[in-house]
Amino acid sequence: MVEYNSIVIHYGEIALKRGRRPYYEKLLKKNLEEKLGRKLRRLRGRLILKLEGDDWRILSEKIRKTFGVVWYAPAVYVKKDVEELERKIIEALREDNVRSFKVSVKRSDKTFPLTSLELAEKLGRSISNNLNLRVDLENPEKIVWVEVTEEGFYFLFEKIEGLGGLPTGSSGRVLSLLSGGIDSPVASWLMMKRGCIVDLLHIHSSLTHDEVLESKIGKIARVLSEYGLGLTLHLASFRPFFLKSFELPPKMILVVFRAYMARLADRMAGKKGYLGIVTGDSLSQVASQTLENLYAVSMFSQTPIYRPLIGMDKQEIIDLAKKIGTYEYSIQEYRDCCAILARHPETRADPRELREIWEKNNLEEVVEETLKDVAEYNF
Ligand code: ATP
Ligand code: MG
Repeated sequence: MVEYNSIVIHYGEIALKRGRRPYYEKLLKKNLEEKLGRKLRRLRGRLILKLEGDDWRILSEKIRKTFGVVWYAPAVYVKKDVEELERKIIEALREDNVRSFKVSVKRSDKTFPLTSLELAEKLGRSISNNLNLRVDLENPEKIVWVEVTEEGFYFLFEKIEGLGGLPTGSSGRVLSLLSGGIDSPVASWLMMKRGCIVDLLHIHSSLTHDEVLESKIGKIARVLSEYGLGLTLHLASFRPFFLKSFELPPKMILVVFRAYMARLADRMAGKKGYLGIVTGDSLSQVASQTLENLYAVSMFSQTPIYRPLIGMDKQEIIDLAKKIGTYEYSIQEYRDCCAILARHPETRADPRELREIWEKNNLEEVVEETLKDVAEYNF
């Protein structure tokens, strides 16, 4: 077993954004430190976590869920002494049952006397001689990655893929309409991936908030919170709208509900400073998500509505939900509001008609009524 003493963390896209680079790097460092409860060090182009005898696998899970990380790896730090580096790598490879390998060197310390290729060749030769292994540049069974940094060497054997994206908090706050379905958790996650702090708003038809928090809604909020630095779940009651729904033309109920949700989120955005509203709509996935309906509903919010799933197929969304870890909860039984409402919704809502229904039935008051007891829960 290799005795890893560090974790090397690399970021890609954020390193490309020239002007803002230090800002992104510092933010990623701060986010990781908060999640891991540990201090990191920033070397050129990477972050380093020193392991203090703890299991890197436990930390790994948290790093894997941090946006902005492109890849990371458990690594062995060796002070800048090539003989020492050779010895350590040979020691680590000795118990490995591989027959072929190659060395790949990345040099970010340009003052180091050997070029990347020279160091790779030198290491390759001594490892090969010592352990009787074959160097295979085309198809090696094992790759020894060596990083030459200003403060010493790091070597590693496996790169673990991160999520990419941008560090949480680099893009402002949005409010995501969360249902119990498969789509809206994925939509929320995609906004998180672009650096947003995403809070959730769920309209529930349960008797108590505890019931909602213990349901899949609470579980989905928990899973999503692990990708950021925590989040707030706002719970609003379905009751005011439900009571009103009996007075609405049956065919229009679902579209009016959508307009109502947009307006509710818009009002909350205004009050709490969210810069956008997020929904899990995917174009024409269901009868209510036609361009006509999305158009009519969008009229009810001054705050921009973001729909990151708009161009995705159901299967793509499902695959992503599985990767995120929300799918298994989304498919559980739940009494969702939409299911309680009309079965055959209007597919081409006329914006004027929708506005008339809104005015005639005082839906603004229903929004007002709902806003009176929205509760916040922090995850
Ligand atoms: P999802 O899988 O997210 O439920 P869906 O394709 O089933 O999406 P609908 O149920 O028609 O779509 O809802 C469209 C969007 O409206 C959802 O993605 C979500 O953003 C929002 N939404 C639906 N129901 C609720 C709710 N009870 N509370 C908050 N937002 C909701
Ligand atoms: Mg749904």
